[in-house]
Amino acid sequence: MLRFALAGNPNSGKTTLFNSLTGSTAHVGNWPGVTVDKKEGVYKKADKPIAIIDLPGIYSLSPYTPEEVIARNYVLDEKPDCVINIIDATNLERNLYLTTQIMEIDVPVVLALNMMDAVEKRGDKIDEKELERRLGIPVVKISALKSEGVDKLMERAYEASQTARKGRTVIEDTALKHLISDIQIALDGQGVLNPLFHAVKLAELDELEVLMHKEAVNMVEAFKKTHIDDTFGDDFEALVADARYKYITKYFSPALKRKNKDKFVVTPSDKADKILTHKIWGIPIFLAILFAIFHLTFSENFLFLGGLLPENWVSLKGTAFEGVFGVGGINSPGVTLMRLVELLTGTISDLIAGWLSTSPEWVSGLICDGVLGGIFSILGFLPQILVLFMFFSILEDSGYMARIAFILDRALRKFGLSGRAFLPMIMGFGCSVPAMINTRTLADEKEKLATVRVIPFFSCGAKLPILTAISGAIVASFGVGNVDLITYGMYLVGIITALIAVIIMRKTTLNGNPPPFIMELPAYHAPQFRNLMMLLWDKAKHFIEKAFTIILASTIVIWFVSHFDFAWNFLPDDQMQNSILGGIGQLIQPIFTPLGFGSQLTNMGWVFAVAALTGLIAKENVVSTLGTLAACLVGVAVDVELDGGVLAVTKIMEITKIGLPALLAFIAFNMTTIPCFAAVAAAKSEMPDKSKFKWTLVFWISTSFIVSSAIYLIGTFWWTAFICLAVAFIVALFVRAYDKKVQAKGEK
Ligand code: GDP
Ligand code: MG
Repeated sequence: MLRFALAGNPNSGKTTLFNSLTGSTAHVGNWPGVTVDKKEGVYKKADKPIAIIDLPGIYSLSPYTPEEVIARNYVLDEKPDCVINIIDATNLERNLYLTTQIMEIDVPVVLALNMMDAVEKRGDKIDEKELERRLGIPVVKISALKSEGVDKLMERAYEASQTARKGRTVIEDTALKHLISDIQIALDGQGVLNPLFHAVKLAELDELEVLMHKEAVNMVEAFKKTHIDDTFGDDFEALVADARYKYITKYFSPALKRKNKDKFVVTPSDKADKILTHKIWGIPIFLAILFAIFHLTFSENFLFLGGLLPENWVSLKGTAFEGVFGVGGINSPGVTLMRLVELLTGTISDLIAGWLSTSPEWVSGLICDGVLGGIFSILGFLPQILVLFMFFSILEDSGYMARIAFILDRALRKFGLSGRAFLPMIMGFGCSVPAMINTRTLADEKEKLATVRVIPFFSCGAKLPILTAISGAIVASFGVGNVDLITYGMYLVGIITALIAVIIMRKTTLNGNPPPFIMELPAYHAPQFRNLMMLLWDKAKHFIEKAFTIILASTIVIWFVSHFDFAWNFLPDDQMQNSILGGIGQLIQPIFTPLGFGSQLTNMGWVFAVAALTGLIAKENVVSTLGTLAACLVGVAVDVELDGGVLAVTKIMEITKIGLPALLAFIAFNMTTIPCFAAVAAAKSEMPDKSKFKWTLVFWISTSFIVSSAIYLIGTFWWTAFICLAVAFIVALFVRAYDKKVQAKGEK
């Protein structure tokens, strides 16, 4: 099969083109560095299928970070049949810098001028025929986003792949020209592949190249002595870069006709950035936007109209739709969707319970309480997860999240945190696993380690049911607050914990200054509807698949171990205390006493300990376990309709008499403790050093205990806030003293 590789600068649209060519749904983010590993797909519209490889973004072929090495080595060593060099045509000259390097490799190359829609919108024109003539490689205008010109691109790439191509360099008019051609001839004589490319890199004394051709370095030095006089300076890398840019401006730039040639234009993006990345208002605006999102997703008092509406305005009392659109207030879109799903799951479980009413007790127990009670308790949250994700993806795709990284970099750099590290953290809101993999873009090992450790604190989709179910139950039983406020607050608790933890690590065990953060802010653009829908569909599919595999299996196991004792006798629902699960739960229950959901809960209090434990497999399990146990506790599901996670938690709260602070501590515990198996495995594979991984587990356990017990203590005895503050102050002093000592050492 032919193999075409996509290479280009970060954020030039490689993944968008890859998705358009292969019909896959790889993550497209509007910031540099989303793709950190190469991905393969198949283009099927040609006579024969063609493999497409999406490479991580690179600015040059002299790599600094691991993912840049992946891209370079692929192009050099794997000999693709054609390299499709995709460039952001709105930044033509800068993007052509990489092109001048790829051109030096002996491989067929096709240039894809992407984002032509944006170029045309600006009124600029690019003469692709002229560019093609000057570059000596085929040039095709495309818009990956609108899938325009991509089939033409593939045709040209196919044509190009049919003939071998010799590399060509634009380094002319300088003394380097002779040096390069001499090295090239020598390398060629030694049978080195891609002699021109390596000759240029050797002349630059590129780090990787020097390692690879140690024997050639002496030769290069000798050549340099004979060809180049001292007045020339010895920063050859800069010389080569300069030669490339000069050539680009002289020969390639004329192909671009700008509409506003000499005027400095303030784009709408620039105007928006004046406000959104404002020094002082930037962060408050972000917090406000985040709150608006939570309000739209979780509020049962939308726009706070509750008090102004006539009582039970659309409660639809007596109908099946009772409460769907709101009771007292208006339900936000997220809540309305949730209620509709609950209506559906409720109807299904009623039906099934009806059919099973004559079957043996354990059959209806297992199916109604165990399976349905567990799965339906989390399935109801799917709409809210999707709504939340939709908003997050809009923020991301529009280019706003990249700004957040920029703002936070400005604010927190002196504490050892760089904006680059925030991008994987923000990805953690989706799922920790890809977020942890994305930390490969961080060149600094210590910064990477600190980032991997705190990623789970950025609450992922699977933790959402915990937040929503418990907040819902809190609002229902204690009559305090709104679900949106509580979930928003808990997300902030996670973010703040993460930031404090990173700062402490960066000032102590993982100390160091972050590398400079240079990122071009992508232009704002409207998110693409199709991309968005694909992403949501993917997410929904994944969630449902998980519900009917891992979660289903776990709920069945939970039901069995809660209905049999160690001697394998079947126990009815009201004797769960004596079951295997009950035994284990009561054994570990005391360790949660400082957190409020330990020994102080007598009647059935162990269910919280057990739920937290099952959360280690997958975080959805926390609520599904509570759902299963609640369904058992209130008897067969026929009597009480326990379909939603909120109802299940409310029931458990009534039985165990757990208090409000303990419930908040329980949420915080699940957010900050050891994440699910998948995330633990991802963290482990990102930490080749075993002892680092061991300490990471210790870090998660201790963070969760510290944060949750602080919440419980302060919530129960308000004056303990002073003790907590004092402790925090002492810790801060220690961290500072340590940091000073390290820096003094460094200066010596
Ligand atoms: P990658 O980093 O090279 O993989 O780039 P992505 O495929 O992730 O795209 C980066 C951003 O550019 C995303 O926000 C895309 O929606 C946007 N983008 C990609 N192709 C086009 C295009 O043809 N036109 C416009 N206007 N935007 C595009
Ligand atoms: Mg990409």
